[in-house]
Amino acid sequence: MPLPPSPTPSASGLRVLLVEDEHDIAANIWDFLERRGYVVDHCADGAGGLARAMQGGFDVVVLDLGLPRLDGLALCRRLREAGHGVPVLMLTARDSLDDKLRGFAEGADDYLVKPFALPELEARLRAMVRRKHPDGGLAHGPLSYDPHTLTALREGRRIPLTRLQGALLETLLRDAPRIVAHARLIERGWGPAGTDMAALQTQVYALRTLVDRPFAQPLIQSVRGVGYRLVSPA
Ligand code: CA
Repeated sequence: MPLPPSPTPSASGLRVLLVEDEHDIAANIWDFLERRGYVVDHCADGAGGLARAMQGGFDVVVLDLGLPRLDGLALCRRLREAGHGVPVLMLTARDSLDDKLRGFAEGADDYLVKPFALPELEARLRAMVRRKHPDGGLAHGPLSYDPHTLTALREGRRIPLTRLQGALLETLLRDAPRIVAHARLIERGWGPAGTDMAALQTQVYALRTLVDRPFAQPLIQSVRGVGYRLVSPA
């Protein structure tokens, strides 16, 4: 039976890692989310799920508690210890309240008790991603920035920035994918007194080192003699 189109299309295209060993449950969740426009990757055991989650690139992880090879709590703990801030929704059995509470101690962001309705799962996923990106305007592709905490987020990694780097990234994000002129970046970063091109280049270099260099695809593009812009990943 065809499902109605998603009421908030902006949330479609979100990348979900589903770690669930029960085949029927995994297939149901996968089918439902893909029909709603999500991009789903699936692992059927904890060790494989951890390896996949460590690679990054997901907006949210749906994690079963009871998994072969590595359980959901251990997976979540190791992910957090490695510095990954990707939101985690834990799936638990009805009788495992203690495990559910432990899940939060291990770094899960929310939980659902089995059996659950699939629209409820989707509502939780959307709410988690919204909390992660409180200002929806400050995101471009896999990169987002929270000006309240001076923290960029890319592919599940939290990247603390200086106030100056944050101001430059915020300006690029607000105008993305348009080019931001050098003069405007200088004005936003240094105020009306301004600075010289060398100082701007130094700060953009530092910003790129943080938000581009650790990842496969650079997003900050220099437009010679004009300015900088954020490009979309291929
Ligand atoms: Ca299980």
